[in-house]
Amino acid sequence: MKIGIIGAGQVGSSAAFAMMLNAVGTEIVLVDLNAAAAAAQAMDIVHGVPFGSQVLVRAGDYADLAGAAVVVVSAGVNQKPGETRLQLLERNAAVFKTVIPQVLAAAPEAILVIATNPVDIMTSVATRISGLAPTRIVGSGTILDTARYRSLLSAHLRIAPQSIHAYVLGEHGDSEVLIWSSADAATMPIEVFSRHVGRPLTKEAREAIDDGVRNAAYKIIGGKGATHYGIGAGLSRLVRAILSDEHRVFTVSTVTPDAEGITDVALSLPRVVARDGVAVTIPPRLDDNERRALRRSAEILKAAQDAISL
Ligand code: NAD
Repeated sequence: MKIGIIGAGQVGSSAAFAMMLNAVGTEIVLVDLNAAAAAAQAMDIVHGVPFGSQVLVRAGDYADLAGAAVVVVSAGVNQKPGETRLQLLERNAAVFKTVIPQVLAAAPEAILVIATNPVDIMTSVATRISGLAPTRIVGSGTILDTARYRSLLSAHLRIAPQSIHAYVLGEHGDSEVLIWSSADAATMPIEVFSRHVGRPLTKEAREAIDDGVRNAAYKIIGGKGATHYGIGAGLSRLVRAILSDEHRVFTVSTVTPDAEGITDVALSLPRVVARDGVAVTIPPRLDDNERRALRRSAEILKAAQDAISL
């Protein structure tokens, strides 16, 4: 099955590399404004095929996306000195105005996976531009934040992250909400489990985990300028779930008719992902504080989404 990736920068190329290693799809087409860079990324990844999986990786143009089942959009522009966040958003919206119609002209049946930041707002922009059902436009949302949360819980509790059910919801960004009240492992609420294994989740431990999740991107960007391996692995896993019709739960972002009373806002909730995109959205079980925080995150996103003129 063919996968398209628009924007073969650090995120797009890391996603393609992870897909090649994990045998996700049979063909990956990299499309970028900078065709020479896309060709170089494809060539570099092809040289990993003898050590990885037999996936055809190549650079191409929009026409080469014909028949793609999934197209990942990780194209974006960077903030210029003196530029406001809203101006950056308007420029990324302009990128999507050129990219999304060309993708859909070539691959009208494709599920779109949006990674460009701010990802919730760009998911809303892609939905508005495309006119498609919101369930077909899947923002990567808080899949990375949820992975970071599980990684930090895993290190604290000394169990595999795959054995932990814990979610980050709302914005992929500052107002995101770590859900503690329903986190669990091995049938036990996570607090009970933590005491059982002799590694209690004290107030300090929880604050350190919250800080580690919320500020991970700032720390990584401070150290090396960008984050791309974690999201690359996450995009690869998400695309595999779509291609294989897995009905697997991810905290992805889609335009949601009603999120805590806020209408038509793109944000992350637990959602069942399958061949057609989002199959089911799960209303999360939350305590009062988490519910208030999720509503606030939805309000922040709604205001930003409404400020974008298309
Ligand atoms: P990058 O600058 O390395 O790559 C962006 C690529 O987009 C460049 O190769 C550029 O040529 C291309 N591009 C720009 N305009 C284009 C257009 N009109 N058509 C086709 N290609 C175009 O940036 P990156 O580090 O790969 O990050 C890409 C995006 O992913 C950013 O918005 C970043 O913030 C976001 N990101 C998201 C997550 C997440 O969790 N969703 C995590 C990390 C980064």
